[in-house]
Order: sequence, then structure tokens, then C-alpha cells
Amino acid sequence: MRRAIFPGSFDPITLGHYDIIERGVTLFDEVIVAIGVNADKKYMFTLEERMNFIKESFKDEPKITVVSYKGLTVDFCLKNNVKFILRGLRNPADFEFEKAIAHTNRDLAPIETVFLLTAAKTSYIASSIVRDVIRNNGDYTKLVPKTVRVK
Ligand code: ADP
Repeated sequence: MRRAIFPGSFDPITLGHYDIIERGVTLFDEVIVAIGVNADKKYMFTLEERMNFIKESFKDEPKITVVSYKGLTVDFCLKNNVKFILRGLRNPADFEFEKAIAHTNRDLAPIETVFLLTAAKTSYIASSIVRDVIRNNGDYTKLVPKTVRVK
């Protein structure tokens, strides 16, 4: 059973995340979308909202599960028999950041990080930009799955 975790904040999930998850499903038997809980971080959406946006998006896809976790991603992997970490790459900044994390994770546990290059059409999308559009009453619906709606 090839199981991968796609960890992130997903505040909120974007079409960029969605694309990586859909493509990840073709590579693995199960993709666990895992929302990392960081008590020091301020989020726009609650954990429950962020989880529901993702669950609703993939409700017809049995190979995708959504969880939240605290602590190190590699510890979650070891406890849940997950052998792969899935991450997306948009640009050189992502690469530098992801490289350091992937090397560190490899020092901590024998878990491979698998990178998928962003789709061209979603390469510019970031949750931080989506939040900015929302805050300023812009049309964020072009950037996120249909399940993400601001009340
Ligand atoms: P984090 O808090 O780890 O930055 P994010 O939710 O922003 O969490 O991102 C989680 C993962 O999704 C990261 O690997 C990030 O590079 C990837 N990602 C974010 N936006 C995109 C996008 N538009 N295309 C491809 N991958 C993306």
C-alpha cells in the first residue's frame, strides 16, 4: 500500500493544491491531506472550515482522506505507516524552502518526499494571495475549489 501525506495549512485550499492532490492520487494508493496545527499561527479559516472545504471537494474520491495533526510530519508518517510526503513546487523560492525541509525530514526518518511541479494554469496561486483577495472583497472564486465559500 503506497500511502502519501500532503501536508499544509490549506488556509484555504486553492486550485493549486487541488491539482497536486488529483495528480497525487494517480501515483499513490492513498493520499492523506493533512492539516498541520500550529498553535502560534493565526488562520483566516478555522480548522473545521479548512477540513470541510477539502472533504467536500473530494467527497467522491475514496483514495483521499483528510486529517489534522500536531507535531512533526515525519512522526505522523511513522505512526501511520506513510512512506511518502507529497509537495508542490511553484518557483525557485518553493524549491529552496522545500529542499531544506526534505533534507531535514530525511535525516529524521526514511521517508521520501515526492515533488510535483505546479500546473502552469495554477502556478501563481497561493493561499496568502487568496486571503488578500477575500479581505479586500475581490472575486476569490476563480482561485479556489467550489467548496470554498466565505460566509
Ligand atoms: P504551508 O503552510 O506548508 O506553506 P500550504 O497550504 O501553503 O502550506 O502549501 C502546502 C503545499 O502545497 C506546499 O508543498 C506548497 O508548495 C504546495 N502549493 C501551494 N500552492 C500551490 C500551487 N499553486 N501549485 C502547486 N503547489 C502548491
